[in-house]
Amino acid sequence: ACEQFPKGPIETTSCDFETVESVSDDLYAQLRDLVQTPFFKYFRADLYRDCPFWQENGLCMNRECGITTVDESEIPEAWRAKALSKVEVSPKQELHQLPGCYYRDSDFCFLDDMSEGDYIDLSVNPERFTGYTGPSAHRVWKSIYEENCFGISQFDTLNALPEDSKTCLEQRVYYKIISGMHASISTHICHDDFNQTTGKWGPNLQCFINRIASYPERLEYMYFNAVLLLRAVARIGPYLSAYDYCGTGTHEGDQYTLEKLNNVISIAQNVGRFDETTLFRGPNAQVLKEEFKQHFRNVSRIMDCVGCDKCRLWGKVQTSGVGTALKILFELDQSALDPKINHNLLTRSEVVALMNTLHRFTESLVAVNDFRKMWAREAHSQ
Ligand code: FAD
Repeated sequence: ACEQFPKGPIETTSCDFETVESVSDDLYAQLRDLVQTPFFKYFRADLYRDCPFWQENGLCMNRECGITTVDESEIPEAWRAKALSKVEVSPKQELHQLPGCYYRDSDFCFLDDMSEGDYIDLSVNPERFTGYTGPSAHRVWKSIYEENCFGISQFDTLNALPEDSKTCLEQRVYYKIISGMHASISTHICHDDFNQTTGKWGPNLQCFINRIASYPERLEYMYFNAVLLLRAVARIGPYLSAYDYCGTGTHEGDQYTLEKLNNVISIAQNVGRFDETTLFRGPNAQVLKEEFKQHFRNVSRIMDCVGCDKCRLWGKVQTSGVGTALKILFELDQSALDPKINHNLLTRSEVVALMNTLHRFTESLVAVNDFRKMWAREAHSQ
């Protein structure tokens, strides 16, 4: 995977690797600017809920596991929890509430309610090596993969995409999403690694070889996730363009946010070629979709079991971002997407999570290119 770019079609999409490659630098540049803007950098999350599935003692004491929070007074008033605490529920939907979190029928994630939690400036808490590892981290990943057990067929899901003959398309898509997200997180860890000997931060090629490059399918799933998210952004594009980003305090600031966002949307409209209508169509479609949602919701709750604050934060951002993309693709029909009819379709948190997650995956693709260059240099010097 370090020597050769993947080529040709990206399975289950109508896009190919070359097309994604051709836009990844530009897309990354636009997203990097976008996620620095006030609207997109402040995220509110409740990071200190108990793990609902097991007794979690895996507290990470490394300095890098910690996060810095932002006082509410620094957040523009319109984006504060009080202004956003009302959950919109359409008459056809039910709101399911648990202590500290909730979901609506259409949601693929549990969402933190606004009564608890902290504001975090994502731009000063980058996802990178923290030293969180061992049984706690492995248990979380194992539990996440075990959610890929659909009633239709059951088997061990860790490490291998189950054989096509035994699985349905939806289950394969589910696995690709999870494995691709795992691969993207690993890529960030390897690209922003702390070298204990030199005391410096930087890319660690061997780490990338061990975790990603030795498993070409993991790399492919990162591209798959990027296309899925781009399709969701393209689909919701008009709604996102009409969203209210005012709050930075200056007209120029608000315009800049919108301009960057529109640049991302126009790239997404060219590259986000994923046909969501091919999923959930068989005789069991509705049952399968409910199961898919339920499993992904569980993944979002498993994030409360991650024993490292910064890892938990980014785990929550990314499951929420992917969950939002899935909702856009599989739950909202075309008429719902009209910003005039349905202006409260997504919460600010969902919009922020969606764009930050796309930024994470795009950054991973750019990091992969860095690793390829490092590999070529090393091969040359031998
Ligand atoms: P792990 O990455 O823990 O993987 C466990 C097992 O899963 C592997 O042995 C392998 O068999 C399998 N596997 C690995 N990758 C894939 C894949 N892509 N697809 C399918 N199977 C796979 N650490 C940090 O330093 N910084 C972070 O920001 C961070 N965020 C995290 C977020 C979450 C949600 C979780 C659960 C963990 C996070 N960690 C983070 C920890 C990190 O992901 C690893 O668990 C840790 O570095 C140990 O890595 P490992 O090589 O032992 O394998």
